[in-house]
Amino acid sequence: MFDPIEIKDLSYKYDALGEKVLKNISLTVKKGEWVAIIGHNGSGKSTLSRFLNGLLVPEIGTVLINGLDTRDTEKMWEIRKNVGLVFQNPENQLVGTTVKDDIAFGLENNGVPKVEMEGRIQKSAIKVGIGHLLGEEPHRLSGGQKQRLAIAGIIAIQPSVIVLDESTSMLDPQGRKEVLQTVLHLRETENMTVISITHDLNEASLADRVLVMNQGEIVREGSPSEILTDEMFMKDQSLDVPFAVKLQQQLMEKGIPLNTVTLSMDGLVEELWKLKSNS
Ligand code: ADP
Repeated sequence: MFDPIEIKDLSYKYDALGEKVLKNISLTVKKGEWVAIIGHNGSGKSTLSRFLNGLLVPEIGTVLINGLDTRDTEKMWEIRKNVGLVFQNPENQLVGTTVKDDIAFGLENNGVPKVEMEGRIQKSAIKVGIGHLLGEEPHRLSGGQKQRLAIAGIIAIQPSVIVLDESTSMLDPQGRKEVLQTVLHLRETENMTVISITHDLNEASLADRVLVMNQGEIVREGSPSEILTDEMFMKDQSLDVPFAVKLQQQLMEKGIPLNTVTLSMDGLVEELWKLKSNS
């Protein structure tokens, strides 16, 4: 069995005379793993994501997707089918006049037989919670629904990896929550491998593993609680820490004995309740 993603010593420059924007990246992602990639603007996150479905092809190093080398042009179609990219702006990803047509579009492009299409459309729409909206015009949907539609279009093609490239950054808190819950659900039920490139630390805190990029390198990796609570390190990377971590810090400075580090506000509230009921 191959790992869904295996990158070895990948380096890249856009311009032959320019600086390297990726430097010696090596990364293996296991099936069903959720990896969040964080790092300040220009650190190379999006460039790395473009290597995952063959939009960019390595000259130095290798990128294997389910064991397929992205340099192998004959396998490009299969590689693209295996890795679905969800971009930042939901508006740019919608093509159909109805939700149903929109999901059908990707299936047609991938040569899925007509008899199979109906079932796949229904199933993927239900999986992302928009099964009741198949007849709607996509432009009438909320931001969160539009991104879920984009995800439905991707999962209908049955990829093994889904890459979210700042896919929640244009959404309101409700839309963000809907999309993240959808991704959590897909990982749970389909064992989907997820790569999320994000500024949203709440999103990163849901991952199994966080990678931090800086100037084209992976400078650190670890669990969300190891990395996102390390204020010194995060500051060094010009990154913020989650709001719950900051608040917790301030409460501790005021003498409230919080021992467990929590990344979410829900977790912090729970800790405070425990303290209150023990006092
Ligand atoms: P991030 O996603 O972390 O913000 P990017 O991968 O977009 O970082 O950018 C990494 C570096 O590559 C930056 O210096 C950026 O200016 C440069 N870059 C990104 N896209 C292109 C491109 N299409 N052509 C030339 N340089 C690019």
